[in-house]
Parts: sequence; C-alpha cells; structure tokens
Amino acid sequence: MPIVRPEQPVFRFAPSPNGRLHLGHALSAILNHDMAAAMGGRFLVRIEDIDRTRCRPEFETAIFEDLAWLGLAWDEPVRRQSDHLDLYAAALERLKEMGLVYPSFMTRGEIKAAVAAAETTGKPWPRDPDGSPLYPGRERELSPAAQADLVASGRAHAWRLDVAKAVGRVGEPLTWQEMGAGPSGESGLIAADPTAWGDVILSRSDAPSSYHLSVVIDDALQGVTHVLRGRDLYHATSIHRLLQRLLDLPEPIYRHHRLVLGADGRKLSKSNGDTGIAALRAAGHSPADIRAMLLCPDESRIPEVTRH
Ligand code: GLU
Repeated sequence: MPIVRPEQPVFRFAPSPNGRLHLGHALSAILNHDMAAAMGGRFLVRIEDIDRTRCRPEFETAIFEDLAWLGLAWDEPVRRQSDHLDLYAAALERLKEMGLVYPSFMTRGEIKAAVAAAETTGKPWPRDPDGSPLYPGRERELSPAAQADLVASGRAHAWRLDVAKAVGRVGEPLTWQEMGAGPSGESGLIAADPTAWGDVILSRSDAPSSYHLSVVIDDALQGVTHVLRGRDLYHATSIHRLLQRLLDLPEPIYRHHRLVLGADGRKLSKSNGDTGIAALRAAGHSPADIRAMLLCPDESRIPEVTRH
C-alpha cells in the first residue's frame, strides 16, 4: 500500500451519514477547517459509511449542504469508505496471515447472556472504555484448523483482533502525542492501553470492515497528519495506534476536542433535533451564530441559544 506523507498538514472531518449533523459535528468540522487554514494545510472530508444498515444517501447529501452552509470549503476529492472495501479486506488478510485475528461466533444475545451468567457470582465482568463488556468468547484458543472448520461451516462470524497477542508482537509500549486533552485532562505523550478494549471487532458478519480498521487505513492513505476529533474517541486512539504499528502505518498527531453537550448535560445524538444544523438554520440562525455558540467558552449558552 503506498503511503503518501506530505509536508503539508492534512486535517480531516470524517462523519458517518447515519443522521443529520448537529452542533458537535459542526465544532469538529469548524476546528479542522480553521486549523488547516491557519497552518496552510488541507481540509479533507471523509464519508464513513461502512455500516450500510445505518447509512443513507440523503444524509450524505445533507452533510455537504450543512458544511457548505457553514462556509467550510473542503479539498476534493471526498473519500467514501464504501468505495474502498477491498483495501480494508486486504489489511484484514494481512493480520490473518500474522495470526493476530480469529473468527468469533457469539451473537450479541449470546454475549449478553454469557456476561450476565458470569456476573451472577457478584463480580462485574470487565468493560471497555465505552462501557461495553469485553468479549467473553474463547475462539482465540481454538487451533487454526478448528477455526477454519467453523468458518467453512458457513456460520455467521466476525473477525476479532487478538489484542494481547498483537500487543505482544509489537513488543514495546505504544504512545501517542495528544495536543488536545483526554477526559481527565490528559495531554502530551500518552501511553496507549489497547488491552482495555479486549478483542475488538475488525469486520462483522454484516459489515466488511470496522470503524477501527478503516479509520487507520484511510488516515494513512489520505496522508492525514492531524487527527482532530471529539473526546469520545480519545480511548479508541489506543487501538488505532496498535493497528498503525501492526500495519506499518504512520503515526498522526492527535487532538481530541471537548464535546458539545445538550441541555441535559449529555452528549448530543443525531436524533437531537433542536441542535441539528438544519434545524438551527430553519430557526433563523446564521453560520456566524453557530460559530459564536460553539466557540464561546461557556458551554451552557448552547441550549439557551437553540431555544430561540
Ligand atoms: N466517523 C466517526 C464519527 O462520526 C468519526 C471518526 C474519527 O474522527 O476518527 O463519529
């Protein structure tokens, strides 16, 4: 895979077209755009549409409408992940050849039941940084032949990274440069902790790649030098650094920005109608108003303004 490493800084905004953009996305897009402009860099847009069950073309069209309305010009071409599934599949093959991935067969329901059964002892099952239980399946312990037989039987399966084995293969602690801040204010040189995630999924039975796998490949192929994104993805960086090292991909600089919270103090979601960019536009707000709401240090102003 040829990796381009340009001198020029490259930033990207990478939304998933599974809903309308809200103020949280606007903050990410504005910061990426403005920082690229300030550094004489490029501002790319990437459509992360791996999950075909949730992504819709009308949301993709709306993303470009909202970005254009916000006055954020991006550099062409736009990259669409669904156009590059072969690249993610090739990377997965490489990890298979390295013996670092295994097929996993437990359904969501089976995982939930196994975790509940284990927790009847009173001891909580370990959770990942997003609060999901670590994978309780043991297929990693099967011989390669037994794994291959199960795959050949045609049973639906995902491919998971054997994180402990992968960390062992890397053989030295992984770090990243954090120019923003983590949830507890972490910044500077951060120690990555990929094992906190357990064996993450790299491709699902119903989606040919995963967020983690495609994001590291695309950041490398697009020559992204600065990954500027919301703090909700801070911990995911540990997995990204592991995959980058396994696949010989360059290490970008990371900057995680604060999240925009709704009136209830929770992270905005795509169903959060009144903080949607389109809803704010329809309510008579200008792009300058959106900037003022977002770049104002007092986050409590946001819900107030949206009530106009
Ligand atoms: N597609 C992700 C999202 O919409 C962002 C990925 C990233 O910035 O690394 O939350």
